[in-house]
Amino acid sequence: MRGLMMDYPLTLPPLLDRAEQLFGYREIVTRRPDRSVHRYQIADFVDRSRRLAVALQDLGVTRGDRIATLGWNHQQHLEAYFGIPAAGAVLHTLNLRLHPDDISYIANHAGDRIILVDDTLLPLLERFHSALSTEHIIVMSQGDKPELPRGMLDYEELLAAADPARYSPPLLQEQDAAAMCYTSGTTGMPKGVLYSHRSMVLHAMALAMADLFAIGESTSYLPVVPMFHVNSWGTPFSCVMMGAKQVLPGLNLDPASICELLAQENVTTTAGVPTIWLSILEHLDENPDKYDLSALELMLVGGAAAPPSMIEAFESRHGLNVVHAWGMTETSPLGSVSHVGPHHENASADERLALRAKQGRMAPLVEIRAMNDGEAVPWNGTSSGELEVRGPWVASEYFDSEQGAEFFTDDGWFRTGDIVTIDSDGYIEIRDRAKDVIKSGGEWISSIALENALMGHPSITEAAVIAIRHPKWIERPLAVIVTGDATPPTLAEIRTYLEPYFAAWWLPDAVEVVDQIPRTSTGKFKKRDLRKQFDGYQLPETD
Ligand code: ADP
Repeated sequence: MRGLMMDYPLTLPPLLDRAEQLFGYREIVTRRPDRSVHRYQIADFVDRSRRLAVALQDLGVTRGDRIATLGWNHQQHLEAYFGIPAAGAVLHTLNLRLHPDDISYIANHAGDRIILVDDTLLPLLERFHSALSTEHIIVMSQGDKPELPRGMLDYEELLAAADPARYSPPLLQEQDAAAMCYTSGTTGMPKGVLYSHRSMVLHAMALAMADLFAIGESTSYLPVVPMFHVNSWGTPFSCVMMGAKQVLPGLNLDPASICELLAQENVTTTAGVPTIWLSILEHLDENPDKYDLSALELMLVGGAAAPPSMIEAFESRHGLNVVHAWGMTETSPLGSVSHVGPHHENASADERLALRAKQGRMAPLVEIRAMNDGEAVPWNGTSSGELEVRGPWVASEYFDSEQGAEFFTDDGWFRTGDIVTIDSDGYIEIRDRAKDVIKSGGEWISSIALENALMGHPSITEAAVIAIRHPKWIERPLAVIVTGDATPPTLAEIRTYLEPYFAAWWLPDAVEVVDQIPRTSTGKFKKRDLRKQFDGYQLPETD
């Protein structure tokens, strides 16, 4: 027997109506490039998002067209987040930290018809403009109207000329595409992930859940995670759905600028990758009493493993609550969040920290299994396998790509490439990405576990551990570290420091000091470059 409930499609445009009806007064704050602050209310935001939809339709945009953005986190970008899907088109955020050749490859592969670009990024666009097959370029400026190169359109002029009363939502089905992001290409050519209206609405609802990101009307939210990194983890959609205040930092992402905004705007929730929080931790340590961060309840960290020492330091030295989450472009991105549940309320401080450093438990509706040799491994916290996921906001295939079919199993799961253990309470711990794992004498060494421990050493600010070829063991770990000390710790000192935590054969065979660990376009350690840099590195033969 079929249930008798309405077949109501889950699409994004009704979120604009809801925001207008319920939260019109709520603020959206942007820090402009010149550091001045722009403020307006959700009512203005909804009006302008609809104007954008009308302006795009007037330019000939129709359902399913891909419209790209190349921009920092600011209110116009937020309008594009809603205005583009509200026109029935597909929001495609381009990653401005990629090489220009990669950006043009991705824009052309996606078939982007229009690009909305920040005026501050016109010099970047200039480097690949001629390779693009787009029809229009629309320039978003945060200050005075810039002198625009011929043929480019001014965002503000388009909006001023558009009549929001002419907006009528397109007839959308929930399975229609709403947005797309490309993977960063760490596992081959960049591949497009195409989100549906339905997946985005469900994902936005999930983020709002109390045991996930707890985004609600009283939230004041600052995304350090860029709007070009998996849609800023989907959080802007959740904030508009729930009526949260948004504080958008623009292009000033240095620790002092972020801390200032966190304090001035009474931010309650913020999100970013570990490298951002490591630099903010250092800044707060140097300026312990400078900022009043008493409103800050939740610092979400994800995208790469958060070292336990960092989680602990924020709490013990600054009273701040860092919560670890895991996800991928292919999972919208939210997969899991590591909150300590009531089941562990009597756990010791060390046990709680160990749990918080894990990647956590899956969001509702997301299923997981860890596979080894075609079998799901038991949830015992020690057996490891490749994490596979499925759920309503997990990709089922890549956009228009010959590649990547191997990531989707015949029985309907997505293979993440992450090697994990799952404990009996369902907490996932990522031991490594499959390609970063170090295989010594046929056994796995977790580079993440070593890095996390190394970053707890008082003299080490950053650490990445990579595999180096070895005549006997095939691969052995090399620790590449950044230190603030004039005399860096020696290999012997580092091994002694790590000894209590690891089997002897896990300890690095060599240490190299560098000025900075190379970063990916989304701020993670770029081990592929380190591997190139240390290619052919000679390790002594050990027993
Ligand atoms: P890429 O890293 O290829 O740019 P994504 O941004 O989609 O692509 O990153 C997804 C990957 O990031 C995951 O497969 C996982 O390896 C890593 N990752 C994400 N969150 C965490 C976390 N909390 N701890 C460890 N690794 C993480």
